[in-house]
Amino acid sequence: IKKIAVLTSGGDSPGMNAAIRSVARTCAYYNIECIGIYRGYQGMIEGDFLPLNARSVKGIINKGGTVLKSARSQEFRTPEGRKKAHENLLKEGIEAFVVIGGDGSFTGALIFNEEFNFPVMGIPGTIDNDIYGTSHTLGYDTALNTVVEVIDKIRDTASSHNRLFFVEVMGRDVGHIALNVGVGAGAEEILIPEEDLGLERLLQSLKRSKLSGKSSSIVVVAEGDKIGKNVFELKEYVEENMTEYEVRVSVLGHMQRGGSPSCFDRVLASRMGVKAVETILEGKSSYMVGLLSDKIEITPLNEAIKGKSKINKELMRVADIMSV
Ligand code: ATP
Repeated sequence: IKKIAVLTSGGDSPGMNAAIRSVARTCAYYNIECIGIYRGYQGMIEGDFLPLNARSVKGIINKGGTVLKSARSQEFRTPEGRKKAHENLLKEGIEAFVVIGGDGSFTGALIFNEEFNFPVMGIPGTIDNDIYGTSHTLGYDTALNTVVEVIDKIRDTASSHNRLFFVEVMGRDVGHIALNVGVGAGAEEILIPEEDLGLERLLQSLKRSKLSGKSSSIVVVAEGDKIGKNVFELKEYVEENMTEYEVRVSVLGHMQRGGSPSCFDRVLASRMGVKAVETILEGKSSYMVGLLSDKIEITPLNEAIKGKSKINKELMRVADIMSV
């Protein structure tokens, strides 16, 4: 193999730039050409390519977002779109690509590989940590640090006013962010998609906290929590049933996806990029690189897509004990 492309696809996450840099530098190390593809699969269809050498990826390891830009491409979901993309890759002499993204991006890569027998590799980049085959996705650790810092600040104001705060964090299908920041920031309750706490239990728990002498409370709520009420409905419910607190809501939103990557994410991205390129050079295709028991391992893309990342039950128990 003489030429490998790299692209970022789907939602962006901190650490994607560090992974782009790692892919480009690993290619340079092995004397292979590296091509950056702008705007994910849409740029592949439009032939929006940029050669990357070891020096052109300087100064990006510490930057959030992705210098290659990301996109969602409807056209890539069609056989015609993928055919155009394939023609562009061939025209440029590209013989394999590394896609940094989530489940959807991996599904696209796998379909592309099956249609054209084209070598592909995946690097998991998403803050949600919702991918099977890795204990950490790129950007997850940074997001945890960002959110804990914000909740610390919210706690300052909550305790000055005897307030109860519902803080909504990202996580439609999985509660990894909510559970970890909940424990890390000392939340009273943590509502996640994996567990139905029930409104009544939430209320009892808040009342108990109040009686035990707490003057303020933070409840961390994942977007997709099982109670089925959004944070504003939760606020109404608690206000109707509990007069002890003034209740406020804070929806953190897209700030969770931004910011300079943590050292952990930079190191992880560097390791993943090396493994992705080296796996291609071993003649393999259709794997995702991931971190498992502190080793960089590969998992077949179809398993990574089908498998479910599991919530840490031990941490759920710790959270429970901490809210005594
Ligand atoms: P995020 O974590 O942000 O959800 P993702 O990679 O899962 O990241 P998606 O929008 O689901 O994000 O997918 C990114 C792109 O991958 C899509 O815009 C599309 O171009 C391609 N893709 C997703 N699913 C398919 C599919 N079934 N067939 C072909 N291409 C697909």
